[in-house]
Amino acid sequence: MTAATAAWAERIAMARALALGESVLGATSPNPPVGAVVLAADGTPVGEGATAPPGGPHAEIAALAEAGERARGGTAVVTLEPCAHTGRTGPCADALLAAGVARVVIAVPEPTSRAAGGAQRLRDSGVQVEVGLERAAAEAGALASWLTAVREHRPYVVWKVAATLDGRVAAADGSSRWVTGAEAREAVHRLRSTCDAVVVGSGTAVTDDPQLTVRRPDGTDAARQPLRVVVDRRGRLPRTARVLDDAAPTLVSAAPTAAELLAELYDRDVRRLLLEGGPTLAAAFLREGLVDEAVLHLAPTLLGAGTPLVGDLGITSITGALSLTVTDVARRGQDVEIRLRPDGRS
Ligand code: ZN
Repeated sequence: MTAATAAWAERIAMARALALGESVLGATSPNPPVGAVVLAADGTPVGEGATAPPGGPHAEIAALAEAGERARGGTAVVTLEPCAHTGRTGPCADALLAAGVARVVIAVPEPTSRAAGGAQRLRDSGVQVEVGLERAAAEAGALASWLTAVREHRPYVVWKVAATLDGRVAAADGSSRWVTGAEAREAVHRLRSTCDAVVVGSGTAVTDDPQLTVRRPDGTDAARQPLRVVVDRRGRLPRTARVLDDAAPTLVSAAPTAAELLAELYDRDVRRLLLEGGPTLAAAFLREGLVDEAVLHLAPTLLGAGTPLVGDLGITSITGALSLTVTDVARRGQDVEIRLRPDGRS
């Protein structure tokens, strides 16, 4: 195999590893969603894996198990530096050495001191290690939430809101169901499935009485459900609320600020949080600069009056407007999905 052929095989393997990491987003916290591919000595893919739920094997272990003896003299391609610590599972760096892998290609170096040192341990044992292949793509992909959470010691926050074309989430009489169509609502269930927890304020919980579960397109409940969180400082949530049913675990929090809520959730291993409403809670997060990403579903309807999609941000002049950057736009049936990032967030 020529060097160019080997490099090409590693690029394809890394693209596959990135997709494997994406496939387990929302299922691995507090561990990172990692993907791994093992190439035999001749460059043939012989094993692949993704991080299992906590307590299960890391991506490298799953990929090595599938590769078996064919890993010997081969290359492991992973989205995050293999761990060097013994957590609930043994160090992946040692497993790679035991499997006789000759080369390890890594996208992102391990940012936590607890798990770092894997690349060095491999190099010390004579394994060729390359760090940085597709690093930007990996950091912007499945690992983005986990990297932010590790850096800031709080969950990454995705704010999702469905509104009319004039930015209303409910009509003047308070009615708000089915603002958007079926395709947009399905997209919300997919988005929820990538998150560890979903949060609403008590106002939304009382007015809309949402169940906040992840349902498959056929209407059945998904096997894995995010933690449902209701911020209820004044005990407004009725015991009959659907969010308190047994379809998924629920936390009722009296945390006085958005930051304290995030600290409480981080302690519960939440690394990626979906903020679903309503306007008051969204405004509290935005005012504190605690929204990392926004997913806005706009329906082609007008109300002219009603509840705005976000509450008071304390902004009185156009010069103080909170600006966001559009990162993606997509059609969801008749609705439009706009993905944005508040400026100043990386
Ligand atoms: Zn590991």
